Amino acid sequence: MKLELTDEQSAVRATAKKAARDLLAPDAVTNDREARFPRENLKQLARLGLMGVNVPFQYGGSEAGVVAYALAVQELAAGCAGTTVAMMVTNMVAEAIVEWGDESQRSRFLPRLLSGDDWLTASFCLSEPGSGSDASSLCTTARRDGDDYILDGTKAWVTSGGHSGLYLIMARTGGIAGARGISTFLVQGDNPGLIATKPEDKMGLRASTTTQIVLDGCRVPMRDRLGNEGTGFRVAMRALDGGRIGVSAQALGIATAALTAATRYATERRQFDRRIADFGAIQDMIADSATELDAGTLLCLRAASLKDKGVPHSKEAAMSKVFCTEAANDICHRAVQIHGGYGYTRDYPVERHLRDVRVTRIYEGTSEVQRIVVAREALNGVN
Ligand SMILES: Cc1cc2nc3c(=O)[nH]c(=O)nc-3n(C[C@H](O)[C@H](O)[C@H](O)COP(=O)(O)OP(=O)(O)OC[C@H]3O[C@@H](n4cnc5c(N)ncnc54)[C@H](O)[C@@H]3O)c2cc1C
Repeated sequence: MKLELTDEQSAVRATAKKAARDLLAPDAVTNDREARFPRENLKQLARLGLMGVNVPFQYGGSEAGVVAYALAVQELAAGCAGTTVAMMVTNMVAEAIVEWGDESQRSRFLPRLLSGDDWLTASFCLSEPGSGSDASSLCTTARRDGDDYILDGTKAWVTSGGHSGLYLIMARTGGIAGARGISTFLVQGDNPGLIATKPEDKMGLRASTTTQIVLDGCRVPMRDRLGNEGTGFRVAMRALDGGRIGVSAQALGIATAALTAATRYATERRQFDRRIADFGAIQDMIADSATELDAGTLLCLRAASLKDKGVPHSKEAAMSKVFCTEAANDICHRAVQIHGGYGYTRDYPVERHLRDVRVTRIYEGTSEVQRIVVAREALNGVN
């Protein structure tokens, strides 16, 4: 078993670390306070090749693989978690186009999306107001009209809604109920039938704009259907297997920033005439956090490495997501605790990390749903 990174993986990580330090972190507080969408920094991430880390060179990607992608997300999320989720969803949509798209779709959409010159981000539209965990019950419809489809319905929780150049949208075709009746469409952001609503007022990830997308007679040419009719649920689940690796890495990145802040504070703050870092209770919190960070990183990189090898990784991605996101929430809580009352104010960054990390247990499949995936595999074959 080899645990060393390749030169390429190390280089991608170094690029992301520098971008996090020089570009993302300096804007993170303002982005959070003003709920400001980080247009310029997303453009810079595209220029650095970070919008298509696991996308072939020929389509404008970096072709560096999934481990490199996870490392990049981890570094970026330590700088600004909200900017990072826009980058993650763009990578996820780009990979889906590589996997399921035809040559015309790949060459029409990917270079435009990944260069940062034209489209800044892509959005993934599976959830609806009435269907979250039970995604196969979605109601948005796509009916045939000559050589086009007409999409009608409302998508919920759309990351980068209103800013994206391209939307990957799951809708029901042929009036077929359940997962088998879902198809996927690539819809451009300037389509007059696609309307973004007012952004959600979220507790965290405030640099990321989250909206509903209303599809009102949205006309989409047949050539922009991704994959065959009826494959949409498989497209979504495959994308989410990879997305869960990204969310694991994002949670680890936020937790790394929180632990770094907490260890620094623990060596500066003095009580009872000693550094608080000298108290066993504080050391226990730091030790548990550092250990969980490393354990999570190993789970995350194992899932990424399996995906790189092209072998099934649903269970490993689910294990990674549930462990990393729950550990990261605990680490952020401990970081606030180590800061005492100051951690509860906006003068220190740990309250933002705690708000940002909370959603990682919810989106791209809740912790409860990840446990269902893991338990199903564990029980498989057991009487
Ligand atoms: C900031 C943010 C960004 C998002 N971005 C996107 C995006 O870009 N694209 C997109 O499509 N979606 C996005 N989502 C939606 C997200 O994926 C859903 O919120 C998530 O899947 C949960 O769905 P729900 O909110 O409808 O909760 P529900 O499914 O209603 O769940 C509510 C509770 O019930 C539990 N529950 C549900 N079913 C079961 C079960 N079978 N067993 C046990 N417990 C269960 C859940 O775990 C949860 O605790 C985003 C959400 C947020 C908050």
